[in-house]
Amino acid sequence: MKRTKIIDALKRTDFGSKITVMGWVRSKRGSKGIFFIALNDGSTIKNVQIVGEDQNFDEQTVKLITTGACLKVIGTLVESPAAGQASEIQAKEIEVLGVCDNTYPLQKKGASWEYLRTVAHMRVRTNTFGAIMRIRHNMAMAIHTYFHEHGFVYFHTPLITASDCEGAGNMFQVTTKNLYDLKKDKDGKIIYDDDFFGEQTSLTVSGQLEGELGATALGQIYTFGPTFRAENSNTPRHLAEFWMIEPEMAFYDKDDLMDLEEDFIKYCVRWALDNCQDDLEFLNKMVDKTLLERLNGVLKENFVRLTYTEGINILQEAIRQGHKFEFPCNWGDDLASEHERYLVEEHFKKPVIMTDYPKEIKSFYMKLNEDGKTMQGTDVLFPAIGEIIGGSVREESYDKLMAEIERRQMDTRHLGWYLDTRRWGSCPHAGFGLGFERLILFVTGMQNIRDVIPFPRTPGNANF
Ligand code: ATP
Ligand code: MN
Repeated sequence: MKRTKIIDALKRTDFGSKITVMGWVRSKRGSKGIFFIALNDGSTIKNVQIVGEDQNFDEQTVKLITTGACLKVIGTLVESPAAGQASEIQAKEIEVLGVCDNTYPLQKKGASWEYLRTVAHMRVRTNTFGAIMRIRHNMAMAIHTYFHEHGFVYFHTPLITASDCEGAGNMFQVTTKNLYDLKKDKDGKIIYDDDFFGEQTSLTVSGQLEGELGATALGQIYTFGPTFRAENSNTPRHLAEFWMIEPEMAFYDKDDLMDLEEDFIKYCVRWALDNCQDDLEFLNKMVDKTLLERLNGVLKENFVRLTYTEGINILQEAIRQGHKFEFPCNWGDDLASEHERYLVEEHFKKPVIMTDYPKEIKSFYMKLNEDGKTMQGTDVLFPAIGEIIGGSVREESYDKLMAEIERRQMDTRHLGWYLDTRRWGSCPHAGFGLGFERLILFVTGMQNIRDVIPFPRTPGNANF
C-alpha cells in the first residue's frame, strides 16, 4: 500500500480507511497495555499520533519503538478523541525500518543550540531545525518566484574567480598545486603558471561584477548561489560559506533600487506568513514570542529612507543625550552593528534604508554623488539583524570609475572585462546583495546564523 505523507494524513477525514505512514519516532508513551507514538516524517512540523495495543504486537517490536527509530505503520485512520488533532492512526502492523538505540544524540528535549551544532548531521531531525529548513526552502522559492514574475533572468556567475571582485572579503584560494613543494621565482614569490588555471584563483566573494555584465545585456538579472568569505569574523551574523542573492538592473536609479529592495523583502516575508504558518507558529511559541508580530510589523511599515549623514546626526544626538556606544560614530566612520540597531530598533522602530555613504568606506564601483564625498549606496538595516542588504547605484562613467580605481591603487589586470561594460554602451544601472541566511535569521527569529543553514562553515569548523 502506498505511503501517505503525514501532512496529507492529518488533512484526511475518510475515517475508517486503511493508511500507511512512515517516519521517525519523536516520542513514545504508554499505559495499561496501550502505547502512543508521535511520528514525524518531515513533511510538516506536526506529528501524527499512532495508537497501538501491546497485545497486538510482539514484545520485541514494541521494545524497538524508541525515540529516533524509523517506522512503517499500517493502520486505520480514525477521528481522534484527543484535543489538538483531528485524526490519529490505530496501528495494525508496525515494521521497524531502522532501530535507534540510546546513544542517539537527540534523546533529551531542550538541548542547547551549542550542543546541537556539534551534532549538526542529526539536528535537522528536531522540530526546530525541521521548521527552519522548510522555511529556508520556502524563502528560496519566494525569491525565484519574485524575480521570475518580475522578468528577471536567473544568471549563473562563476564560483571560481581570478579577480578579487570588490575586495569585499578575504578569499579562499583554489589550487591543485602541491603545497609542500611550491614553485617560486628568485624573489620567493609563488609561480602559478603550472597551476590548474595558470594563475592564482579563489572562491568568489560576490557574483556582482559578472552580474553587471548580465544586466547590461539582459536588462535585469539575479544571481542566487554560494559565496565565500575567509573573514575571521566570529560573529552570529557571518559565515565563511553563505548564499547570496544579487539582482542587478539596467536603467535603475537610486529610488528605483530602494523601491525594489523594499518590495522584494516584503514579498519574501509575506510569502513566509502565507506558506509557513505552522512552522512560524511553532517558532513563535518556542524560539521568539515576538516573531509573528515582527514579521507582520515589517509588512505594515514604510521603510525609513535616510542618508548616512542624517543617521550620524541622530547617533550623535543620542550620545549627547547620554546613550553609550562601544564604537565611535563620527562622520566617515563605518557604522557598527550597534549603531545600525540603535537607529532601527530604538530611534525609528522600523527598517531603515541608509543611503549616500562616505566614499572612503564603500566599494570602488559605487556611483559618486555631485558632492564628490559620498556614494550612492542603499543598505537595508533590519531589526535584530542590522545590515541585511548591501546595495548601490553603480558608477557608469568609464572616466570616473577609472579615476576611483587609480585613486585606490587597485590592480586592474583582472578588471579589463568589467571595465568593458563602461567602454561599450555603458548604461545607468544598480543592484544589491541580500545575504540569504540573514533573511532566514529574520524570518525564523533565530539568533545565530550557524543555526539557519544545515551545515555551517565558520572559522575552525568544516565538519559534516
Ligand atoms: P557586513 O558589514 O555585515 O560584514 P558587508 O558589508 O561585508 O556585510 P556586502 O559585501 O555588502 O556585506 O554583502 C551583501 C550582503 O551579504 C550583506 O548585506 C549581508 O546580508 C550578506 N553577508 C555579507 N557577509 C556575510 C557573511 N560573512 N555571512 C553571511 N552573510 C553575509
Ligand atoms: Mn563583511
